[in-house]
Amino acid sequence: AKALGRGNYQFYCEEMNARTLDRLTLESGLRHAVERGELQLMYQPQIDLASGKMIGAEALLRWQPNGQRLVMPDAFIAIAEETGLIVSIGEWVLRTACSQQVAWHRAELADVRVAVNLSARQFRQHGLDAMVARVLADTGCPASYLELEITETVLMERPDSAAQTLQRLSDMGVQLAIDDFGTGYSSLSYLKRFPIHALKIDRSFVCDIPADTDDAAIAGAVIALAHSMGLTVVAEGVETVQQRDFLRELRCDLAQGYYFSEPISATSLANKFIHGEIQK
Ligand code: C2E
Ligand code: CA
Ligand code: CA
Ligand code: CA
Repeated sequence: AKALGRGNYQFYCEEMNARTLDRLTLESGLRHAVERGELQLMYQPQIDLASGKMIGAEALLRWQPNGQRLVMPDAFIAIAEETGLIVSIGEWVLRTACSQQVAWHRAELADVRVAVNLSARQFRQHGLDAMVARVLADTGCPASYLELEITETVLMERPDSAAQTLQRLSDMGVQLAIDDFGTGYSSLSYLKRFPIHALKIDRSFVCDIPADTDDAAIAGAVIALAHSMGLTVVAEGVETVQQRDFLRELRCDLAQGYYFSEPISATSLANKFIHGEIQK
């Protein structure tokens, strides 16, 4: 038993080392990702369920280190958060997405809003509103064409200061959405205090509808609640025609998911417009 124990211990150490090394490699690579031009944004269309038209796109970050495999955000956003690199990366994301909004508008491809994710650290960063204002001014993106997505969990951790930050952004004319709605513990009274424009129903409530009657009931309740408060509802992770039809019956406003399109490059999205695969 002792030998086995030691063996296990060794194995554990090796695994730890591998993971630490991995993390250090990621961290040092990430430090230069912006300046080396290794980051890119993909865009996932947001479709108006009543008209079938695209009204916006969510920007989703990808990292392509030189000569290596594409790294998805779940593998590096947390490290970017812990190291503080998210602040410069986040500014790059915002700037790139706002420039893209202006480019689509100029090319008369689409008059669409762009949605950008904000992490916890970015949201709490002093001067966030000034940074957003600067990027909007530099790029020429109208504030009302930018939507910032903040998760429910981040808002609920410090609801009072969150409400103040949201108010400053809202005063600038920026649209605000609560991301992953339903996964945290928002109370309705807090929701009322936040100057938000949209709720995004988390994918976990969408994937098993309409068959799962509990999830169907939750989706229906969230949509009714949001509408009673004058909010727009976006369903995430819509993959099937059945899900789309069911959400449309529930009067859900917008949807995004693989059924409509995976996140794709700005060029691919432009081509989809030109070929009429996505309606504007
Ligand atoms: P999220 O904001 O909830 O984004 C939705 C995720 O669901 C994206 O994963 C998207 O590709 C994926 N998705 C979209 N449609 C479907 C579908 O129909 N089925 C399934 N199974 N998945 C779908 P992605 O791009 O890997 O991003 C993961 C998370 O990383 C995001 O979750 C967001 O929290 C974070 N993230 C992405 N880009 C950024 C960024 O620029 N800044 C920050 N702070 N976080 C980001
Ligand atoms: Ca999001
Ligand atoms: Ca989400
Ligand atoms: Ca999520």
